[in-house]
Amino acid sequence: MSEPLVIVGNGMAAARLVDELTKAAQGRYAIAVIGDEPRLAYNRVLLSSVLAGETASHDIELKPATWWRDRGVTLKYGCVATEIDVGRRELKIAGEESISFSRLVLATGSTPLRLNVSGADLAGVHTFRDSRDVDLLLTLAAQKKRVVVVGGGLLGLEAAYGLAKAGSPVTLIHLMDRLMERQLDAPAAELLKSLVERKGIRVLLNANTARLLGETRVEGIELVDGRRIEADAVIFAAGIRPNVALAKDAGIPVNRGIVVDDVMQTAAPDIFALGECAEHRGICYGLVEPAYEQGRVLARYLAGGAAAYQGSVVATNLKVSGVSVFSAGDFMGADGCEAIVLSDVRHGTYKKLVISDGRLTGAVLVGDVGDALWYLELIRNREPVARIRPDMMFGRSLSIRPEAA
Ligand SMILES: Cc1cc2nc3c(=O)[nH]c(=O)nc-3n(C[C@H](O)[C@H](O)[C@H](O)COP(=O)(O)OP(=O)(O)OC[C@H]3O[C@@H](n4cnc5c(N)ncnc54)[C@H](O)[C@@H]3O)c2cc1C
Repeated sequence: MSEPLVIVGNGMAAARLVDELTKAAQGRYAIAVIGDEPRLAYNRVLLSSVLAGETASHDIELKPATWWRDRGVTLKYGCVATEIDVGRRELKIAGEESISFSRLVLATGSTPLRLNVSGADLAGVHTFRDSRDVDLLLTLAAQKKRVVVVGGGLLGLEAAYGLAKAGSPVTLIHLMDRLMERQLDAPAAELLKSLVERKGIRVLLNANTARLLGETRVEGIELVDGRRIEADAVIFAAGIRPNVALAKDAGIPVNRGIVVDDVMQTAAPDIFALGECAEHRGICYGLVEPAYEQGRVLARYLAGGAAAYQGSVVATNLKVSGVSVFSAGDFMGADGCEAIVLSDVRHGTYKKLVISDGRLTGAVLVGDVGDALWYLELIRNREPVARIRPDMMFGRSLSIRPEAA
């Protein structure tokens, strides 16, 4: 008989896990997925494209309903899991009967942070995480509402671009002295800023939010240095917090995320976590590729095979905004590293390759990102690059000539 395996969360990590697991061990588990969003799992990464009007919301589903049905998966969406009874191996679901599991996987993702300032709860203050948020933001943009986006990371930039493209006057404010400081060095960030400003987005750096203005609805934002920006809506895109409450309340150890070992198992036997809610070797990843790698490992383990997750080398791509940006590995270059830099700001191109011990360890690309995946492969495989070094900056086709290959 199939063992009952329950997954909490119907997001990207859960969908990948089901895909891998049903390939590796078809029929071994009776899988149930409990998700609180009211739709089939979709590609969250593409929400930015939906907001920018480049993709339709119904086109971002990861798998059609028939795919889930064909694999015998019980899908419960619009359902919130509220409590794990570790001893009885039961999961409570709001408004429904508890369900039993022999194995449980937490794939609960993250929640966007709201700044801890006065006014953060006013009407007109939103976040950018799911398709309901996107519907709301598109309504704002259609009404040409003036929007302030708080946060100049990947998410904030994508929100700002989408809203601007959909018709809103947008100001993007960022606490730090450069955009995407966790992925870009100063020259790359400066170039990105100028490219974003050309799209009509006003960018304010070193902008520390003091409070949001307004009585019941937000009317603007005041910065610590006294500057005020009028706004009809404010979007927080200033970080995420892993959803750990279910695990924590059940007595399962959590730090920032739910602590897991190399097979994604928590301290409670047969209870696993993966994706943004999980913390592996002290790291909570906020990206989809690590979640997919974790899904592969966990599926192999649950299918009875040997597997171990060793952590991920992360890469970031800015997808929308008409500006291509890629960053991976140690892009700043620690002491003792060398950097090869090509900067053609007038033409909107900047490339930096960081080399350490004869290997590529990091890369930043703005403008021309055609070779991004090749650089990422070199970083991940830790291949020696001495032979291709003179041409490496100019991309794969020029570097891997027959005599050099
Ligand atoms: C707009 C946007 C753009 C992004 N762009 C990129 C990008 O370019 N590259 C990249 O790598 N990553 C990007 N990300 C991040 C990426 O989407 C996440 O890393 C990925 O979705 C994580 O997958 P997950 O399954 O862990 O979490 P999620 O996809 O968030 O899924 C978790 C699901 O669990 C549900 N859930 C939570 N608690 C419960 C509960 N108690 N009961 C039932 N259900 C519950 C949530 O509602 C959610 O549906 C982006 C994110 C956003 C929001």
